[in-house]
Amino acid sequence: MDSVLTKTAGAISIVRETETIPVGEIVIKTATGKYICTVCGYVYDPAVGDPGRNIPPGAAFEDLPDDWRCPRCKNDKTKFNKA
Ligand SMILES: [Zn+2]
Repeated sequence: MDSVLTKTAGAISIVRETETIPVGEIVIKTATGKYICTVCGYVYDPAVGDPGRNIPPGAAFEDLPDDWRCPRCKNDKTKFNKA
């Protein structure tokens, strides 16, 4: 990273900017466990759950039953990526 910093003065401010953006927030975002369906773009938000399938708010994606399907396109969990 140091070599990038020394290349141009402009790069320094850009790098510093990304450093100021709390990295912790990104980590927290991942930790909240939103998953996005790669087929239709549906986002599973554990804070919401999936009322249509009796998944209560707070249920992590990992805790969803293996036969859980995307409410929108009916594809299975393997089609989901971490959002
Ligand atoms: Zn889907």
